[in-house]
Formats: sequence, structure tokens, C-alpha cells
Amino acid sequence: CGIVGYAGPRPTVRPSDPAGGEALAVVLEGLRRLEYRGYDSAGVALVVEREVPSGSADGVPLGAHELRVSKRAGRLARLVEALEADPVPDAAAAIGHTRWATHGGPTDANAHPHTSADGRLAVIHNGIIENYAALKAELLEQGVVFTSQTDTEVTAHLLGRAAASHLGRVGQPDGPADPATALADAMREVCAGLEGAFTLLAVHADAPGVVVGARRNSPLVVGLGEGANYLGSDVAAFIGRTRSALELGQDQVVTITATSVDVTGFDGTPVVPRAFTVDWDAAA
Ligand code: GLU
Repeated sequence: CGIVGYAGPRPTVRPSDPAGGEALAVVLEGLRRLEYRGYDSAGVALVVEREVPSGSADGVPLGAHELRVSKRAGRLARLVEALEADPVPDAAAAIGHTRWATHGGPTDANAHPHTSADGRLAVIHNGIIENYAALKAELLEQGVVFTSQTDTEVTAHLLGRAAASHLGRVGQPDGPADPATALADAMREVCAGLEGAFTLLAVHADAPGVVVGARRNSPLVVGLGEGANYLGSDVAAFIGRTRSALELGQDQVVTITATSVDVTGFDGTPVVPRAFTVDWDAAA
């Protein structure tokens, strides 16, 4: 129902700092502004630097990131309570969702984000994956374990698999140039096999600082900030942060980092999306 994405600078606070950070603040504020759409559940996923195990040497090895997911059925306040009980450190990438259930009742397990089997990828989804039953049957046959009743969960498993394969080829002669490209390649590959209406956002623990989004028959807009970029199901997701925005067209994939925005078609062809200026007063 409501979608927010954020890519910003690498956090300067220590991973163990429970204060939370900009990433969570941006995403929760975006979700509050999207509440007007109605929702039954809410959740967030952040890619954070892994905690140093107590007693180990100081310093986290480069590239040591993990996914933190928190989600609850009910009001946003329930999610905020859960986050207060189990605080997440600041992150360079985060996504947030408010759900309006279409497949599977409003439960904690059915709330988004949904995660891949390896726990490295999280995805949020607006809309309906019309061919989810066929995809799910195939995955079940392959032994994939499902933890929700949603149509969305198939995308978590498909994206997780595709991402692992593309990320594993980063830097190889014919492989993707970097983890951001690998994650976008995975999104393009999976979206080509999906039917229905969807806005999808995904983050991966091996692509810290990157959010990848895609859309078909469902809206997705990009907010262009200074040293941070935003994604939203509508501009309410980043009102107050930037007026400079892009509108994604049909069947397009966007990759954002703190300093870059890259858009292509599902076939990988580079695209220049329509730029527009957000009038906060009119949108608020
Ligand atoms: N079809 C998905 C679900 O039921 C997404 C619904 C939404 O747009 O919030 O979980």
C-alpha cells in the first residue's frame, strides 16, 4: 500500500549505538505521511553494519553487513514499540512498507518486508502478483519453505536466488561491475517473469547502501536529495526532504545509492525518466 526507500551516507555512529539514525527516521516519517492511504500492517528493513561480538577485537571487517527486519500487524505505533524494544543501528539503506492485505490476513508473518531463504534480501510490495500461485508451486516443489500466505513472498525467494547468483559474479570478466548492478540485474530478471501490478523495493546485505525498485501497473517515484536519495509509492514518502523528483515509467527498474540514481527498462535499456518538482504545499 505505502512504500518508502532511502539510500544515504554510511552511518558514522557505532553499530551498537541504539539511538537509531537518519535511515529509520526517514522511513518511519515517510510511512506516517503515507498513513492516509489506509493500512493494516507495517514493517521496515535496514542493511546495517554487523555488531562486533563482545570480547572480539575492535573493528568490523569491511563488507560485514546484515539485514535487520522489523514488522507488525496493526498500527505504526506497534512497529515503533517493537523497534524500541529491539533497536536497530543506523544504516546506509532502508525500506519501509504499510500493507493493505490482498492475499493472506493481516498478521505479523504476512506483514512486509519478506525475506529470502538466506536472510540476506528483503523486499516490499504494493499490488498483486497475479501468477504467484504457479511460481509458488514451482518453488515448493524445489523445497523452498514459505513463512507467509502472501502473493509477495514468491518475489523474496526469486529475488534472493537471482541476487545470490549475480552478486557471486561481481568483478568476473562477464559479471556485473558492482553489487548495485548485480542487485538491479536480479530485479530485472525476476520482474520479467511476474504478472499483475507491482511496485517492488529490495535491499540486500551484500549490497549495502543500495535500494533497487521496480514498477508495473503501480506507481514509483524517486526523490533526488543532496547526499541521499529516496523512493516512494507517492511523493508523500519524501515530502519535506526534497522537491526534486523523477517519475518512473511502466516496466522500469531504478537503483539508488546516496549519490546516484540509475533507471533502465526491464530489458536493461537505459532510460531518462520524467523529472518534476514537488509542490509540498499542494501535496501536504
Ligand atoms: N498483495 C500484497 C499483500 O497482500 C501487497 C498488498 C499491498 O499493496 O499492501 O501482502
